Amino acid sequence: MPKCDFCGNSVEKGTGMMFVYISGKIVNFCSRKCEKNMFKLGRKPLEIRWTQAYRQEHKKDNKDGVKSSFKENTINTAGGKA
Ligand SMILES: [Zn+2]
Repeated sequence: MPKCDFCGNSVEKGTGMMFVYISGKIVNFCSRKCEKNMFKLGRKPLEIRWTQAYRQEHKKDNKDGVKSSFKENTINTAGGKA
């Protein structure tokens, strides 16, 4: 499956859009949101917070586990109530 050239997510079969430049360069988009952000609004993926490129650049992906601090908070509140 091709990847969206703006947000970096995989494009599901039968969805999204493929844009072909006159020069022959091919760009894939997963949604109208990504297409508008690139062409109409002229934004760059590295500046938009919800793209994979931004998350990799700013090291937002936590490999240890999802929201470890959130788990600690829930344990503390549960103990306080009981
Ligand atoms: Zn996308």
